[in-house]
Amino acid sequence: MTGPSPSLDTQPFDVVIVGGRVAGCAMAIRLARSGLSVALVERDPVPSETLSTHLIQDVSLFAELGVLGEVMACGAPPLREVSIHLEDADLSAATADRPWLCLRRISLDAVLHRAARDAGAEVFAQTAVVDALWSGGRVNGVVAQRPDGTRVALSARIVVGADGRNSTVARLVGAERYDVRPNERTAFWGYFAGIPMPNVFHLARRGRDMILVAPCDDGMTLVAGQPPLDDHRDWRDPSVLVSVASQLIGPLRGTIDESKLVGGMRSVRRMDGFFRPGAGPGWALVGDAGHFKDIVVGQGICDALRQARGLSRCLTKESLRDPARLDPALNSWWRERDADARPMSWLAQDLGRVQTTVLDHELLRVLAGSTRHRRHLQDVLARHRRPAHVVGRAVQSQALARAALRASRADLRDAVSGALGRERDRLSVGRRATFDT
Ligand SMILES: Cc1cc2nc3c(=O)[nH]c(=O)nc-3n(C[C@H](O)[C@H](O)[C@H](O)COP(=O)(O)OP(=O)(O)OC[C@H]3O[C@@H](n4cnc5c(N)ncnc54)[C@H](O)[C@@H]3O)c2cc1C
Repeated sequence: MTGPSPSLDTQPFDVVIVGGRVAGCAMAIRLARSGLSVALVERDPVPSETLSTHLIQDVSLFAELGVLGEVMACGAPPLREVSIHLEDADLSAATADRPWLCLRRISLDAVLHRAARDAGAEVFAQTAVVDALWSGGRVNGVVAQRPDGTRVALSARIVVGADGRNSTVARLVGAERYDVRPNERTAFWGYFAGIPMPNVFHLARRGRDMILVAPCDDGMTLVAGQPPLDDHRDWRDPSVLVSVASQLIGPLRGTIDESKLVGGMRSVRRMDGFFRPGAGPGWALVGDAGHFKDIVVGQGICDALRQARGLSRCLTKESLRDPARLDPALNSWWRERDADARPMSWLAQDLGRVQTTVLDHELLRVLAGSTRHRRHLQDVLARHRRPAHVVGRAVQSQALARAALRASRADLRDAVSGALGRERDRLSVGRRATFDT
Protein backbone atom coordinates (compact mmCIF):
# COMPACT_ATOMS: atom_id res chain seq x y z
CA MET A 1 0.00 0.00 0.00
CA THR A 2 1.40 3.45 -0.83
CA GLY A 3 -0.86 5.94 0.94
CA PRO A 4 -4.15 6.14 2.79
CA SER A 5 -7.22 5.71 0.64
CA PRO A 6 -8.93 9.12 0.25
CA SER A 7 -11.98 7.79 2.12
CA LEU A 8 -9.93 7.11 5.28
CA ASP A 9 -9.92 9.58 8.10
CA THR A 10 -6.21 10.46 8.65
CA GLN A 11 -4.68 11.58 11.95
CA PRO A 12 -1.10 12.89 11.91
CA PHE A 13 1.54 12.04 14.57
CA ASP A 14 5.31 12.23 14.86
CA VAL A 15 5.49 8.59 15.95
CA VAL A 16 3.03 5.69 15.78
CA ILE A 17 3.78 2.89 18.25
CA VAL A 18 2.09 -0.43 17.55
CA GLY A 19 1.64 -2.54 20.69
CA GLY A 20 0.92 -1.04 24.09
CA ARG A 21 2.58 -3.15 26.74
CA VAL A 22 6.11 -2.96 28.17
CA ALA A 23 8.11 -1.86 25.13
CA GLY A 24 5.35 0.24 23.59
CA CYS A 25 4.37 2.07 26.77
CA ALA A 26 8.01 2.75 27.70
CA MET A 27 8.60 4.24 24.24
CA ALA A 28 5.39 6.28 24.47
CA ILE A 29 6.29 7.66 27.91
CA ARG A 30 9.75 8.73 26.80
CA LEU A 31 8.77 10.17 23.42
CA ALA A 32 5.64 11.98 24.58
CA ARG A 33 7.61 13.56 27.42
CA SER A 34 10.23 14.73 24.93
CA GLY A 35 7.51 16.73 23.15
CA LEU A 36 6.71 14.41 20.24
CA SER A 37 3.13 13.63 19.30
CA VAL A 38 2.64 9.90 19.85
CA ALA A 39 -0.10 7.42 18.94
CA LEU A 40 -0.04 4.19 20.97
CA VAL A 41 -2.13 1.52 19.27
CA GLU A 42 -3.03 -1.63 21.21
CA ARG A 43 -5.17 -4.48 19.92
CA ASP A 44 -6.14 -5.81 23.37
CA PRO A 45 -8.29 -4.15 26.02
CA VAL A 46 -6.22 -2.02 28.37
CA PRO A 47 -5.23 -3.30 30.88
CA SER A 48 -5.55 -7.02 30.25
CA GLU A 49 -3.80 -10.29 30.96
CA THR A 50 -1.05 -11.54 28.71
CA LEU A 51 0.68 -14.91 28.58
CA SER A 52 3.92 -14.15 30.39
CA THR A 53 5.47 -14.69 33.77
CA HIS A 54 7.07 -11.56 35.15
CA LEU A 55 10.31 -11.70 37.02
CA ILE A 56 11.96 -8.27 36.97
CA GLN A 57 15.63 -7.99 37.94
CA ASP A 58 16.32 -4.28 37.54
CA VAL A 59 13.67 -2.03 39.06
CA SER A 60 15.83 1.04 38.48
CA LEU A 61 14.44 0.99 34.93
CA PHE A 62 11.07 1.98 36.40
CA ALA A 63 12.69 4.81 38.33
CA GLU A 64 14.04 6.12 35.01
CA LEU A 65 10.47 6.21 33.68
CA GLY A 66 9.25 7.91 36.85
CA VAL A 67 6.91 5.03 37.73
CA LEU A 68 8.83 3.21 40.47
CA GLY A 69 6.47 4.48 43.19
CA GLU A 70 3.38 3.21 41.32
CA VAL A 71 5.09 -0.10 40.50
CA MET A 72 6.04 -0.73 44.15
CA ALA A 73 2.55 0.33 45.28
CA CYS A 74 1.10 -2.66 43.37
CA GLY A 75 2.12 -4.75 46.36
CA ALA A 76 4.64 -7.26 45.01
CA PRO A 77 7.18 -7.82 47.79
CA PRO A 78 10.78 -6.82 47.03
CA LEU A 79 12.75 -10.05 46.58
CA ARG A 80 15.92 -9.68 48.63
CA GLU A 81 17.32 -13.13 48.02
CA VAL A 82 17.78 -15.16 44.89
CA SER A 83 17.90 -18.91 45.46
CA ILE A 84 19.23 -20.68 42.38
CA HIS A 85 19.92 -24.42 42.47
CA LEU A 86 21.10 -25.91 39.21
CA GLU A 87 21.66 -29.65 39.54
CA ASP A 88 23.75 -29.97 42.74
CA ALA A 89 25.20 -26.43 42.53
CA ASP A 90 23.88 -23.81 44.91
CA LEU A 91 24.23 -20.42 43.21
CA SER A 92 22.17 -18.41 45.70
CA ALA A 93 23.02 -14.85 46.67
CA ALA A 94 21.36 -11.89 48.36
CA THR A 95 20.08 -9.07 46.15
CA ALA A 96 20.97 -6.63 48.94
CA ASP A 97 20.02 -3.09 47.99
CA ARG A 98 18.85 -4.04 44.47
CA PRO A 99 15.78 -6.21 45.10
CA TRP A 100 14.07 -8.08 42.27
CA LEU A 101 10.32 -8.03 41.74
CA CYS A 102 7.68 -10.46 40.51
CA LEU A 103 4.77 -8.27 39.43
CA ARG A 104 1.83 -9.67 37.47
CA ARG A 105 1.55 -8.19 34.01
CA ILE A 106 -2.02 -7.03 34.52
CA SER A 107 -0.67 -4.78 37.29
CA LEU A 108 2.55 -3.71 35.59
CA ASP A 109 0.99 -2.99 32.21
CA ALA A 110 -1.76 -0.90 33.86
CA VAL A 111 0.87 1.32 35.56
CA LEU A 112 2.76 1.77 32.29
CA HIS A 113 -0.42 2.57 30.39
CA ARG A 114 -1.46 5.25 32.84
CA ALA A 115 1.98 6.80 32.61
CA ALA A 116 1.87 6.78 28.80
CA ARG A 117 -1.50 8.55 28.82
CA ASP A 118 -0.34 11.02 31.47
CA ALA A 119 2.73 11.79 29.38
CA GLY A 120 0.41 12.82 26.55
CA ALA A 121 0.38 9.80 24.24
CA GLU A 122 -2.93 9.26 22.46
CA VAL A 123 -3.97 5.69 23.23
CA PHE A 124 -6.02 3.71 20.72
CA ALA A 125 -7.15 0.66 22.74
CA GLN A 126 -8.72 -2.42 21.16
CA THR A 127 -7.48 -1.09 17.84
CA ALA A 128 -5.46 -3.37 15.55
CA VAL A 129 -2.94 -2.20 13.00
CA VAL A 130 -3.72 -3.97 9.75
CA ASP A 131 -1.60 -2.25 7.10
CA ALA A 132 1.39 0.01 6.59
CA LEU A 133 1.45 3.24 4.61
CA TRP A 134 4.48 3.91 2.39
CA SER A 135 5.86 6.92 0.57
CA GLY A 136 9.10 7.01 -1.45
CA GLY A 137 10.25 3.64 -0.08
CA ARG A 138 9.72 4.67 3.54
CA VAL A 139 6.96 3.69 5.94
CA ASN A 140 5.00 6.78 6.88
CA GLY A 141 2.04 5.47 8.84
CA VAL A 142 -0.39 2.65 9.44
CA VAL A 143 -3.99 1.73 8.87
CA ALA A 144 -5.72 0.65 12.07
CA GLN A 145 -9.07 -0.97 12.69
CA ARG A 146 -11.13 0.37 15.57
CA PRO A 147 -13.34 -1.83 17.81
CA ASP A 148 -16.43 -0.89 15.74
CA GLY A 149 -14.74 -2.17 12.56
CA THR A 150 -14.07 1.25 11.02
CA ARG A 151 -10.56 2.06 9.84
CA VAL A 152 -8.38 5.06 10.46
CA ALA A 153 -5.05 6.11 8.90
CA LEU A 154 -2.40 7.26 11.37
CA SER A 155 0.43 9.02 9.57
CA ALA A 156 3.87 9.36 11.19
CA ARG A 157 7.52 10.02 10.51
CA ILE A 158 8.32 6.63 11.99
CA VAL A 159 6.31 3.53 12.93
CA VAL A 160 7.62 1.59 15.91
CA GLY A 161 6.63 -2.06 16.13
CA ALA A 162 6.36 -2.92 19.83
CA ASP A 163 3.87 -5.61 18.97
CA GLY A 164 5.46 -8.73 20.36
CA ARG A 165 6.86 -11.98 18.99
CA ASN A 166 4.31 -12.28 16.18
CA SER A 167 4.80 -8.66 15.18
CA THR A 168 2.40 -7.33 12.55
CA VAL A 169 4.78 -4.46 11.79
CA ALA A 170 7.61 -6.94 11.10
CA ARG A 171 5.35 -8.79 8.67
CA LEU A 172 4.19 -5.61 6.93
CA VAL A 173 7.75 -4.32 6.39
CA GLY A 174 9.20 -7.76 5.57
CA ALA A 175 11.54 -7.97 8.58
CA GLU A 176 12.61 -11.62 8.60
CA ARG A 177 13.85 -13.48 11.68
CA TYR A 178 17.56 -14.36 11.90
CA ASP A 179 19.68 -16.33 14.38
CA VAL A 180 16.66 -18.46 15.23
CA ARG A 181 17.14 -20.79 18.24
CA PRO A 182 14.40 -23.41 18.70
CA ASN A 183 13.24 -23.57 22.31
CA GLU A 184 13.78 -26.86 24.13
CA ARG A 185 11.31 -26.27 26.96
CA THR A 186 7.70 -25.30 27.27
CA ALA A 187 6.12 -23.36 30.17
CA PHE A 188 3.17 -24.09 32.49
CA TRP A 189 2.34 -21.82 35.38
CA GLY A 190 -0.27 -20.83 37.90
CA TYR A 191 -0.90 -18.49 40.84
CA PHE A 192 -1.34 -20.00 44.28
CA ALA A 193 -3.01 -18.28 47.23
CA GLY A 194 -2.14 -19.20 50.80
CA ILE A 195 1.53 -20.17 50.48
CA PRO A 196 3.51 -18.54 53.28
CA MET A 197 6.52 -17.77 51.07
CA PRO A 198 9.55 -15.79 52.22
CA ASN A 199 10.47 -12.91 49.89
CA VAL A 200 12.83 -15.04 47.87
CA PHE A 201 13.01 -15.87 44.18
CA HIS A 202 13.60 -19.60 43.61
CA LEU A 203 14.88 -21.25 40.47
CA ALA A 204 15.78 -24.93 40.45
CA ARG A 205 16.81 -27.27 37.64
CA ARG A 206 17.31 -30.95 38.38
CA GLY A 207 17.65 -33.51 35.61
CA ARG A 208 15.05 -32.57 33.01
CA ASP A 209 12.87 -30.59 35.42
CA MET A 210 12.97 -26.88 35.99
CA ILE A 211 10.83 -24.83 38.39
CA LEU A 212 10.59 -21.13 39.17
CA VAL A 213 8.74 -19.77 42.21
CA ALA A 214 8.29 -16.23 43.54
CA PRO A 215 5.76 -14.35 45.64
CA CYS A 216 4.03 -11.66 43.56
CA ASP A 217 1.33 -9.02 44.06
CA ASP A 218 -2.17 -9.65 45.44
CA GLY A 219 -0.79 -12.17 47.95
CA MET A 220 -0.19 -14.78 45.24
CA THR A 221 2.78 -16.99 44.59
CA LEU A 222 3.80 -17.64 41.00
CA VAL A 223 4.77 -21.28 40.44
CA ALA A 224 6.06 -22.10 36.96
CA GLY A 225 7.38 -25.31 35.45
CA GLN A 226 9.47 -25.53 32.31
CA PRO A 227 9.43 -29.17 31.21
CA PRO A 228 11.18 -30.30 28.03
CA LEU A 229 9.01 -30.14 24.92
CA ASP A 230 8.90 -33.95 24.77
CA ASP A 231 7.88 -34.40 28.44
CA HIS A 232 5.18 -37.07 28.72
CA ARG A 233 3.41 -35.76 31.85
CA ASP A 234 0.17 -33.79 31.51
CA TRP A 235 1.20 -30.44 32.92
CA ARG A 236 -2.27 -28.98 32.34
CA ASP A 237 -3.13 -30.97 35.46
CA PRO A 238 -1.99 -28.71 38.34
CA SER A 239 -1.08 -31.72 40.48
CA VAL A 240 1.93 -32.33 38.19
CA LEU A 241 3.23 -28.79 38.79
CA VAL A 242 2.52 -29.08 42.53
CA SER A 243 4.35 -32.39 42.79
CA VAL A 244 7.48 -31.36 40.82
CA ALA A 245 7.59 -27.93 42.52
CA SER A 246 7.52 -29.44 46.00
CA GLN A 247 10.29 -31.86 45.06
CA LEU A 248 12.57 -29.11 43.77
CA ILE A 249 11.73 -26.11 45.98
CA GLY A 250 12.14 -26.77 49.72
CA PRO A 251 9.81 -24.04 51.11
CA LEU A 252 6.90 -25.40 49.06
CA ARG A 253 7.00 -28.81 50.74
CA GLY A 254 3.94 -29.22 52.95
CA THR A 255 2.62 -25.75 52.03
CA ILE A 256 1.68 -25.86 48.35
CA ASP A 257 -0.63 -28.86 48.97
CA GLU A 258 -2.67 -26.69 51.34
CA SER A 259 -2.84 -23.73 48.92
CA LYS A 260 -5.39 -22.82 46.27
CA LEU A 261 -4.73 -22.44 42.56
CA VAL A 262 -6.37 -19.18 41.47
CA GLY A 263 -7.51 -18.75 37.86
CA GLY A 264 -6.36 -22.05 36.35
CA MET A 265 -3.16 -23.13 34.63
CA ARG A 266 -1.52 -21.11 31.87
CA SER A 267 0.89 -22.38 29.25
CA VAL A 268 2.94 -21.42 26.22
CA ARG A 269 4.56 -24.01 23.97
CA ARG A 270 6.31 -22.36 21.03
CA MET A 271 8.96 -19.92 22.18
CA ASP A 272 11.79 -19.99 19.66
CA GLY A 273 14.51 -17.44 20.27
CA PHE A 274 15.24 -15.08 17.36
CA PHE A 275 16.36 -11.66 16.24
CA ARG A 276 14.70 -9.43 13.66
CA PRO A 277 16.17 -6.31 12.08
CA GLY A 278 16.03 -3.45 14.58
CA ALA A 279 15.05 -0.86 12.01
CA GLY A 280 14.53 0.04 8.36
CA PRO A 281 13.40 3.09 6.38
CA GLY A 282 10.64 4.69 8.44
CA TRP A 283 10.25 1.85 10.93
CA ALA A 284 11.85 0.22 13.97
CA LEU A 285 11.17 -2.85 16.10
CA VAL A 286 11.53 -2.85 19.87
CA GLY A 287 11.00 -5.44 22.61
CA ASP A 288 9.89 -8.94 21.63
CA ALA A 289 9.05 -7.77 18.11
CA GLY A 290 12.79 -7.50 17.44
CA HIS A 291 14.30 -10.11 19.73
CA PHE A 292 13.11 -12.99 21.87
CA LYS A 293 15.19 -15.35 23.99
CA ASP A 294 14.66 -18.45 26.10
CA ILE A 295 12.48 -17.40 29.03
CA VAL A 296 14.52 -19.34 31.57
CA VAL A 297 16.46 -16.16 32.40
CA GLY A 298 13.27 -14.01 32.41
CA GLN A 299 14.86 -10.98 30.79
CA GLY A 300 12.26 -9.81 28.27
CA ILE A 301 10.65 -7.10 30.41
CA CYS A 302 13.94 -5.42 31.37
CA ASP A 303 15.23 -5.84 27.81
CA ALA A 304 12.13 -4.12 26.45
CA LEU A 305 12.63 -1.21 28.88
CA ARG A 306 16.34 -0.95 28.05
CA GLN A 307 15.71 -1.09 24.32
CA ALA A 308 13.03 1.58 24.62
CA ARG A 309 15.61 3.79 26.32
CA GLY A 310 18.13 3.27 23.51
CA LEU A 311 15.70 3.59 20.62
CA SER A 312 13.90 6.63 21.99
CA ARG A 313 17.23 8.51 22.08
CA CYS A 314 17.38 8.21 18.28
CA LEU A 315 13.95 9.76 17.80
CA THR A 316 14.06 13.53 18.20
CA LYS A 317 12.15 16.31 16.44
CA GLU A 318 15.28 17.02 14.36
CA SER A 319 16.16 13.44 13.42
CA LEU A 320 12.57 12.62 12.51
CA ARG A 321 12.59 15.47 9.98
CA ASP A 322 15.84 14.29 8.38
CA PRO A 323 16.31 10.67 7.24
CA ALA A 324 20.01 11.40 6.64
CA ARG A 325 20.35 11.85 10.42
CA LEU A 326 17.76 9.34 11.52
CA ASP A 327 18.84 6.29 9.53
CA PRO A 328 22.47 6.09 10.71
CA ALA A 329 21.25 6.53 14.31
CA LEU A 330 18.79 3.67 13.84
CA ASN A 331 21.51 1.47 12.36
CA SER A 332 23.76 2.14 15.37
CA TRP A 333 20.93 1.32 17.70
CA TRP A 334 20.27 -1.97 15.90
CA ARG A 335 23.94 -2.98 16.19
CA GLU A 336 24.02 -2.01 19.87
CA ARG A 337 20.83 -3.98 20.56
CA ASP A 338 22.29 -7.13 19.03
CA ALA A 339 25.63 -6.74 20.79
CA ASP A 340 23.84 -6.20 24.08
CA ALA A 341 21.34 -9.04 23.69
CA ARG A 342 23.50 -11.81 22.23
CA PRO A 343 25.51 -12.89 25.30
CA MET A 344 22.37 -13.09 27.43
CA SER A 345 20.51 -15.04 24.76
CA TRP A 346 23.40 -17.56 24.71
CA LEU A 347 23.38 -17.84 28.50
CA ALA A 348 19.61 -18.37 28.38
CA GLN A 349 20.05 -21.11 25.81
CA ASP A 350 22.69 -22.82 27.94
CA LEU A 351 20.54 -22.70 31.07
CA GLY A 352 17.46 -23.96 29.23
CA ARG A 353 19.25 -26.79 27.41
CA VAL A 354 17.70 -30.17 28.28
CA GLN A 355 20.78 -32.32 27.60
CA THR A 356 23.52 -31.17 29.94
CA THR A 357 27.08 -32.45 30.05
CA VAL A 358 29.77 -33.17 32.60
CA LEU A 359 31.37 -29.87 31.61
CA ASP A 360 28.16 -27.94 32.33
CA HIS A 361 27.93 -29.53 35.75
CA GLU A 362 31.54 -28.78 36.66
CA LEU A 363 31.13 -25.20 35.46
CA LEU A 364 28.17 -24.75 37.80
CA ARG A 365 30.16 -26.27 40.67
CA VAL A 366 33.06 -23.86 40.05
CA LEU A 367 30.64 -20.92 40.15
CA ALA A 368 28.91 -22.26 43.26
CA GLY A 369 32.24 -22.58 45.04
CA SER A 370 32.89 -18.83 45.17
CA THR A 371 30.78 -16.13 46.83
CA ARG A 372 32.17 -13.64 44.34
CA HIS A 373 31.10 -15.76 41.34
CA ARG A 374 27.62 -16.23 42.82
CA ARG A 375 27.22 -12.51 43.38
CA HIS A 376 28.51 -11.77 39.90
CA LEU A 377 26.08 -14.27 38.37
CA GLN A 378 23.27 -12.39 40.02
CA ASP A 379 24.68 -9.13 38.66
CA VAL A 380 24.70 -10.71 35.21
CA LEU A 381 21.03 -11.64 35.50
CA ALA A 382 20.27 -8.08 36.61
CA ARG A 383 22.39 -6.82 33.66
CA HIS A 384 24.88 -4.97 35.82
CA ARG A 385 27.62 -7.22 34.34
CA ARG A 386 28.06 -9.09 31.10
CA PRO A 387 28.00 -12.92 31.12
CA ALA A 388 31.66 -13.05 30.04
CA HIS A 389 32.59 -11.51 33.41
CA VAL A 390 31.39 -14.65 35.13
CA VAL A 391 31.77 -17.50 32.66
CA GLY A 392 35.15 -16.33 31.36
CA ARG A 393 38.19 -18.34 30.30
CA ALA A 394 39.43 -18.87 33.88
CA VAL A 395 36.16 -20.46 35.02
CA GLN A 396 35.93 -22.54 31.85
CA SER A 397 39.50 -23.84 32.35
CA GLN A 398 38.80 -24.79 35.96
CA ALA A 399 35.63 -26.59 34.91
CA LEU A 400 37.51 -28.44 32.17
CA ALA A 401 40.25 -29.51 34.60
CA ARG A 402 37.66 -30.81 37.07
CA ALA A 403 35.76 -32.63 34.34
CA ALA A 404 38.99 -34.23 33.07
CA LEU A 405 39.58 -35.70 36.53
CA ARG A 406 36.07 -37.04 37.00
CA ALA A 407 34.56 -37.96 33.62
CA SER A 408 35.22 -40.80 31.22
CA ARG A 409 37.20 -39.89 28.11
CA ALA A 410 34.14 -40.42 25.92
CA ASP A 411 31.92 -38.15 28.04
CA LEU A 412 34.60 -35.50 28.17
CA ARG A 413 35.16 -35.65 24.40
CA ASP A 414 31.42 -35.29 23.74
CA ALA A 415 31.10 -32.41 26.20
CA VAL A 416 34.07 -30.52 24.76
CA SER A 417 33.04 -31.02 21.16
CA GLY A 418 29.48 -29.87 21.99
CA ALA A 419 30.81 -26.74 23.71
CA LEU A 420 33.20 -25.94 20.86
CA GLY A 421 30.44 -26.49 18.29
CA ARG A 422 28.17 -24.05 20.11
CA GLU A 423 30.94 -21.48 20.37
CA ARG A 424 31.76 -21.77 16.65
CA ASP A 425 28.08 -21.45 15.79
CA ARG A 426 27.71 -18.36 17.98
CA LEU A 427 30.76 -16.63 16.59
CA SER A 428 29.58 -17.18 13.04
CA VAL A 429 26.10 -15.65 13.28
CA GLY A 430 24.54 -12.33 12.56
CA ARG A 431 27.43 -10.11 11.65
CA ARG A 432 25.27 -7.81 9.50
CA ALA A 433 23.02 -5.42 11.40
CA THR A 434 22.42 -2.45 9.15
CA PHE A 435 19.98 -1.28 6.47
CA ASP A 436 20.82 0.81 3.41
CA THR A 437 20.40 4.50 4.09
C1 LIG B 1 5.78 -17.91 29.01
C2 LIG B 1 6.59 -16.65 29.09
C3 LIG B 1 7.17 -16.29 30.29
C4 LIG B 1 7.93 -15.12 30.38
N1 LIG B 1 8.50 -14.79 31.57
C5 LIG B 1 9.20 -13.64 31.70
C6 LIG B 1 9.74 -13.24 32.95
O1 LIG B 1 9.59 -13.90 33.97
N2 LIG B 1 10.44 -12.07 32.99
C7 LIG B 1 10.64 -11.30 31.87
O2 LIG B 1 11.31 -10.26 31.95
N3 LIG B 1 10.13 -11.67 30.68
C8 LIG B 1 9.41 -12.80 30.57
N4 LIG B 1 8.88 -13.17 29.37
C9 LIG B 1 9.12 -12.29 28.21
C10 LIG B 1 8.17 -11.09 28.27
O3 LIG B 1 6.84 -11.51 28.30
C11 LIG B 1 8.36 -10.23 27.02
O4 LIG B 1 9.72 -10.07 26.76
C12 LIG B 1 7.72 -8.90 27.18
O5 LIG B 1 6.34 -9.06 27.29
C13 LIG B 1 8.00 -8.02 25.96
O6 LIG B 1 7.14 -6.95 25.95
P1 LIG B 1 6.68 -6.28 24.58
O7 LIG B 1 6.02 -5.03 24.97
O8 LIG B 1 7.83 -6.26 23.63
O9 LIG B 1 5.66 -7.30 23.91
P2 LIG B 1 4.25 -7.86 24.42
O10 LIG B 1 4.17 -7.86 25.89
O11 LIG B 1 4.08 -9.16 23.70
O12 LIG B 1 3.19 -6.81 23.88
C14 LIG B 1 2.92 -6.70 22.51
C15 LIG B 1 1.54 -6.07 22.38
O13 LIG B 1 1.34 -5.77 21.01
C16 LIG B 1 -0.03 -5.95 20.73
N5 LIG B 1 -0.22 -6.14 19.29
C17 LIG B 1 0.19 -7.19 18.54
N6 LIG B 1 -0.18 -7.00 17.25
C18 LIG B 1 -0.83 -5.83 17.19
C19 LIG B 1 -1.47 -5.10 16.13
N7 LIG B 1 -1.49 -5.58 14.89
N8 LIG B 1 -2.06 -3.92 16.43
C20 LIG B 1 -2.04 -3.44 17.71
N9 LIG B 1 -1.47 -4.09 18.74
C21 LIG B 1 -0.86 -5.27 18.49
C22 LIG B 1 -0.43 -7.19 21.52
O14 LIG B 1 -1.82 -7.21 21.76
C23 LIG B 1 0.41 -7.00 22.80
O15 LIG B 1 -0.36 -6.40 23.81
C24 LIG B 1 8.12 -14.32 29.24
C25 LIG B 1 7.52 -14.67 28.03
C26 LIG B 1 6.77 -15.83 27.95
C27 LIG B 1 6.15 -16.20 26.62
